[in-house]
Amino acid sequence: MSTAARAAIVVDAAGAVEIRSYAVPEPGPGEFVLKLELCGVCGTDAHIYRGRLASVTFPALLGHEIVGTLAALGDGVTADHGGRPVAVGDRVGVFPALSCGRCHQCQVRRRPANCPDRRPSYGFKSPVTGPPHLTGGFAEYLHAANAGTVFYRTDLPPEVAVLQEPMSVALHGIERGSVGVGSTVVVQGVGAIGLMAVVAARAAGAHRVVAVGAPAARLELAAALGADATVSIHDLTGVTERRSAVFDALGAFGADCVIGASGSPEAFMEAIGLVADGGVLAELGNFTDRGTVPFNPFSDLLKRDITIAGVYGAGPDMLRRYHQALLILERGGWPYDRVVSHRVPLERVGEALAALGGGSPLDGREIVKLAIDPTA
Ligand SMILES: [Zn+2]
Ligand SMILES: [Zn+2]
Repeated sequence: MSTAARAAIVVDAAGAVEIRSYAVPEPGPGEFVLKLELCGVCGTDAHIYRGRLASVTFPALLGHEIVGTLAALGDGVTADHGGRPVAVGDRVGVFPALSCGRCHQCQVRRRPANCPDRRPSYGFKSPVTGPPHLTGGFAEYLHAANAGTVFYRTDLPPEVAVLQEPMSVALHGIERGSVGVGSTVVVQGVGAIGLMAVVAARAAGAHRVVAVGAPAARLELAAALGADATVSIHDLTGVTERRSAVFDALGAFGADCVIGASGSPEAFMEAIGLVADGGVLAELGNFTDRGTVPFNPFSDLLKRDITIAGVYGAGPDMLRRYHQALLILERGGWPYDRVVSHRVPLERVGEALAALGGGSPLDGREIVKLAIDPTA
């Protein structure tokens, strides 16, 4: 195993990203060291980069969609979370969060995110001023220093395995939206999580899935991943005309479930208008504070008998969903390898975060899903 690892450190909010080098430690009991192959960049990383998540301070080592090969195993690490034996060299996907699993919040309230013994999640621990240093995925190695870290062995290629975490968020939305056999579903927003929501809706048995968003390349990918119809927000710029187009595509006045994966408060209100009376809006796009909107409790909610479900990340059953996500991806059947549109080296982490946050193309191409490739 090499003795030093490079890591891309965000020095300050929206500031420089520096490559720093840290010693690769020997893992302690219950720990392991991972040689990173690929780490997804998600919208949350772009928000953190801009200083929009108060819990993350700088300097920070981001990256929580982590795939790599086991480089060294501490005492007691012999199997993945499903009990399958592992050895050095095996590819695994790493679940970034770790709660105690025993306390009142974990077991009674089923809110592991509120666990008082929760360990700092990989990609969110900050500031990175003391050891362990290699706590995020935008680096050559990860030191999984939370003893008992959950990981799963997989033979999926890295560019597919890296979708496990976004898929687990999409599955939370599908479940909160009560999508089942015969459901009609609108997925609003076709970023990586929206695209995974299309797949998840199909896996849950949806009868009809309509994807709404832009640009054209992402909508085409949504169709390839199982959407029956797509509606472009670039072609149809008015909310009313878009709603008519969605209703036409559904063959109904609204969907049983709308997955809100767009991320703007205005889109949230538009999503409410796409729900059929009696249906559900599962909103997961407004993951950070983007402001407020006027809302009429009578006409937007009661009169139509709808449910609005907040979907925060992979939710309380995050581990179950993380596992389900792997099962869906391993089942295959869809062109998952097309989702990662850009693989960039550690030296370009700052540029990549800025492009993603600004919604601008990178290397002349629209971003669908960015991933950092520390081997590049
Ligand atoms: Zn993510
Ligand atoms: Zn706990």
